Amino acid sequence: MAGDSDATAPERPAPLVDGEAGAAGKGGIANLAAFGGPPAFSEPLHVGRPNVGDRNRLLGRINDLLDRKWLTNNGAYVQELERKIEDFVGVKHCVAMCNATIALEIASRAAGLTGEVIVPSFTFIATAHCLQWQEITPVFCDVDSRTHNLDPARVEQLITPRTTGIIGVHVWGRPCDTDALEDIARRRGLKLLFDAAHAFGCSHQGRMIGGFGDAEVFSFHATKFFNTFEGGAVVTDDDELAAKMRLMKNFGFAGYDNVIYIGTNGKMTEVAAAMGLTGLEDLHQFVAVNRANYEEYRRQLAGLPGVSWICYDETEKCNYQYVVLEVDEEVTHIGRDDILNILIAENVLARRYFYPGCHRMEPYRSYFPHAGLLLPETERLTKRVLVLPTGTAVGPDEIRQICQIIRFAVSRGAEVRLRLAEQSKALFPII
Ligand SMILES: *Cc1c(COP(=O)(O)O)cnc(C)c1O
Repeated sequence: MAGDSDATAPERPAPLVDGEAGAAGKGGIANLAAFGGPPAFSEPLHVGRPNVGDRNRLLGRINDLLDRKWLTNNGAYVQELERKIEDFVGVKHCVAMCNATIALEIASRAAGLTGEVIVPSFTFIATAHCLQWQEITPVFCDVDSRTHNLDPARVEQLITPRTTGIIGVHVWGRPCDTDALEDIARRRGLKLLFDAAHAFGCSHQGRMIGGFGDAEVFSFHATKFFNTFEGGAVVTDDDELAAKMRLMKNFGFAGYDNVIYIGTNGKMTEVAAAMGLTGLEDLHQFVAVNRANYEEYRRQLAGLPGVSWICYDETEKCNYQYVVLEVDEEVTHIGRDDILNILIAENVLARRYFYPGCHRMEPYRSYFPHAGLLLPETERLTKRVLVLPTGTAVGPDEIRQICQIIRFAVSRGAEVRLRLAEQSKALFPII
């Protein structure tokens, strides 16, 4: 067996710098960390390492807010951040909040959603939870295999007399088919919200994302393109909706001792806004790093059979925050999960997204055990998609090494897969 002598190879040869020929020639798959070789990276490389703006300007703002002793409750930094985001996105209202999940709950409640709301299952769980938390039923709709976003034709088929709205998700920051969804919402009398958690800084049809539908929700979580540690915002052109959300995020207080509405606590803190104001000044740098990484990955993996790419529309503004592969197992002879295991062993902490799909998580999988039957594209994507580390954690050298590992694993697909299977059998003999 080709691998036998490899197992005793004293050290990792040069495969990760010399390419697949070097790897195959100098010892082969036994030198992969999954099979006992030393990992390619001593420190783990993460997906979604935080983008942090200029530290001195951030610390200056933090000193300032400590001097002013105004830490939260619609402080000066929160107001400044809201005005700057309104200008940046081109909307009338930005309501900053403590995170996007609360922002989604508040936006959907303020928009009057009840009964059933159509959402993708191929999204982060918060898109569904924000509804179920309020006892609104998320009705999972399949996505378009090409865009990874809601398939408008299927949305229309899921509308019932109980449907009150649609929440589209701009997955990877790539826009939903807003024209088709707005048309459906208008014709059928539904509210249309967008979960734009991935899409801050991205445009669609020459307009910034944030201005579509009745309202859009951004996440400013640490792992997102632009962060405020934790945070989020709803943006809208609807005056009434904005006024309601401002009340709702502050317990319904309309003034001292005057509660006029049911509310919760969704406020953003001053220190979060200080982080946001600082990050906003450096957005172009975050994009430049992400874009260079995205292009390097594409160059390094070009032409690899069975591995396809999520491409960004370069005629629009993109934040390039996600480097996304789709692995077609029929062609590669190695599964997405096999590649993932190989990478993790090398300390490349790639991630499956949005695995296994909201409909396969609780409580939804108990409520709708057969939902998958109506979600063939979602089921397919959750088995194929792999998201690779990017941001400031990696540069061209790391990317070259990561891609060489992937190329090597794919070039020896059948062999790698067999060996992984044997190994897991040895580790878990009962299964
Ligand atoms: C991150 C994310 C959220 C939740 O955002 P938080 O600010 O962490 O609450 C919601 N939807 C999507 C698609 C996300 O990626």
